[in-house]
Amino acid sequence: MNDSDPTPTDVALVTGGGQGIGAAICHRLGSDGFHVVVNDLATDRAESTAASIVEAGGSASSVVADVSDSAAVNAMFDEIEGTVGVVSALVNNAGIGGNAAIRNVTDEDWGRVLGVDLTSAFFCSRRALDSMREERRGTIVNITSRAWLGWWGQSTYASAKAGMVGLTRALAVEMSSRSIRVNAIAPGLIDTPLLRNRTEEALARLLKSVPVGRLGQPEDIASAVSFLSSERSRTITGQVLYVGGGKSVYAYPDWPDAR
Ligand code: NAP
Repeated sequence: MNDSDPTPTDVALVTGGGQGIGAAICHRLGSDGFHVVVNDLATDRAESTAASIVEAGGSASSVVADVSDSAAVNAMFDEIEGTVGVVSALVNNAGIGGNAAIRNVTDEDWGRVLGVDLTSAFFCSRRALDSMREERRGTIVNITSRAWLGWWGQSTYASAKAGMVGLTRALAVEMSSRSIRVNAIAPGLIDTPLLRNRTEEALARLLKSVPVGRLGQPEDIASAVSFLSSERSRTITGQVLYVGGGKSVYAYPDWPDAR
């Protein structure tokens, strides 16, 4: 440990941390030395992630809130600040998929996906920045998706994730004079329940679009979050880091296997 390593008084909040990528991020930040607050919609999942961090020797607690609800987000921050302290590392990870041709996308689908995948990051960032600004330090990492570059059936999801990139870049500039850094990570195909929510055939077809030919693991995203939430990345802000086996460089469903 050195002077810039986090201590248990440094609080990290991970939204949607009960499973998948979010749970891996919680574990990684816990082993990095943060007190990790695990947010999720489901009490059992949030509590179980927090309990396993504590079992591994880390410090963690849980808070249940729907982060697409502004009042619930403010109440969640009140609870965190009243118990463990102000959040110095925020990870906006909670998200839902949206996979439908535009002719089948309803007004409700649009509102739901934008609400969970984009507006939640605005609500949480706005509130976290109130205290980060005062402390003149902090990091925000937004989990966007490679899909923001465009993909079939992704009009809602890609729009929300593209919005997250805009939010990242705008906040990075707005916060630069306060030593607060804001970055985004764009995962490719990562092996989580969200991805497994597809037929085997659809999954096999998707896999062909990944140049390295394999799914990423939640821990791959967690290690990128660890880097962007630490002093190791102190000169990096406003960036999108792609963690997706080359899918942002070249992604084609019938990619010829030339390996
Ligand atoms: P996941 O396995 O479905 O986990 C997401 C977690 O967030 C779930 O526990 C979910 O609860 C929770 N959540 C959903 N809505 C919430 C809300 N309003 N408030 C609080 N928590 C909420 O998904 P994942 O694959 O780990 O994805 C995590 C992030 O990575 C998402 O932003 C996703 O878009 C992004 N991503 C994933 C992939 C991939 O291949 N897996 C690729 C690119 C980007 P419920 O299950 O109850 O909804």
